[in-house]
Amino acid sequence: MTTRWKEYHLPETVEEALTLLSQYEGRAKIIAGGTDLILDLESGHEEPPEALVDVTAIQGLNQIRQESGPDGDWIVIGASVTHYQIEQHPLLQEVATCLTESCRVVGGPQVRNVATIGGNVAHALPAADGTIGLLALDAQVQVCTWAEGQVHCAWQPLLSVFAGPGRNTLQSNQMLGGFRFRPTGPGEGSAFDRIMRPQGVALPILGVAARVRLAEDGQGLGQAIVVIGPAGPIPFRALEAERVLTAAPRFDEEVLEEAIQAARAQAKLRTSKHRATKEYRHEMIGVLLRRVLPKAVERARASGK
Ligand SMILES: Cc1cc2nc3c(=O)[nH]c(=O)nc-3n(C[C@H](O)[C@H](O)[C@H](O)COP(=O)(O)OP(=O)(O)OC[C@H]3O[C@@H](n4cnc5c(N)ncnc54)[C@H](O)[C@@H]3O)c2cc1C
Repeated sequence: MTTRWKEYHLPETVEEALTLLSQYEGRAKIIAGGTDLILDLESGHEEPPEALVDVTAIQGLNQIRQESGPDGDWIVIGASVTHYQIEQHPLLQEVATCLTESCRVVGGPQVRNVATIGGNVAHALPAADGTIGLLALDAQVQVCTWAEGQVHCAWQPLLSVFAGPGRNTLQSNQMLGGFRFRPTGPGEGSAFDRIMRPQGVALPILGVAARVRLAEDGQGLGQAIVVIGPAGPIPFRALEAERVLTAAPRFDEEVLEEAIQAARAQAKLRTSKHRATKEYRHEMIGVLLRRVLPKAVERARASGK
């Protein structure tokens, strides 16, 4: 491979990384695991940058931690945390099951060892597995901005950083710092599953993640978050299906079928040359919701109330 950049920087702080990015005025690119970026550079999908700014050595960005404050508990995952770190984390397996399940299926071990959750989100594909798992947890994203000689970091809804397939909303003076979400507690559960071609190596035909909270009486659902990808230009929250699920007095076969119909009606499915037809994806919404939703509810019931 011919080198397609002149400089490679390894900053140790967000400030250093953003200072470098601003110095290059748009001619530098952030790199984390490189599993998307290097392929994009090789294939010509990305303009060759003058410099790469590697964010994997930044303190705090490669950590997973629990924070407790007056507004309750948060799980915070740095943007440079790898899929392997997430998949192996015992607390996340318990309180963010849909995320560990979604990270566990990404590529093979070699990819998961280096591919980061920040890279998965920033690459902005509507079917990206880790992204779908995070969205079902109703995660927020931390966007760090270099402005007037200072770093400003702010939390915002995760969906707000997606602009379209392969496009995020970040400017050249911005980077992702991390993600945070509420851990699932008693009466809550989550699950993820996907349909993948046996010989497929990158993105699935369809992925679904869901997080539910049981209603007070334990029969219906007090909260339901359903995420499907690809079902639109950006990762897709099936809000109509969520509404059906939380309006019903109990979670049963009939409600599940109604939720599937609602999700199908709202999803904007496409035929993709190498993966699947629109009609096949339409069918698979049913298959995956019938797997994922009962599993999330079962986990919520098993978690105690
Ligand atoms: C063989 C193979 C199999 C794969 N299988 C799957 C799969 O099953 N499911 C799936 O979802 N993906 C899959 N992928 C895609 C890829 O591994 C993931 O999207 C991965 O999470 C990208 O992370 P990375 O750290 O490698 O990102 P990089 O390639 O380093 O970066 C990707 C993009 O994100 C930007 N970026 C990275 N970090 C930040 C940050 N902190 N702030 C702002 N921008 C940032 C970069 O500038 C670049 O534009 C596969 C890739 C390969 C090569």
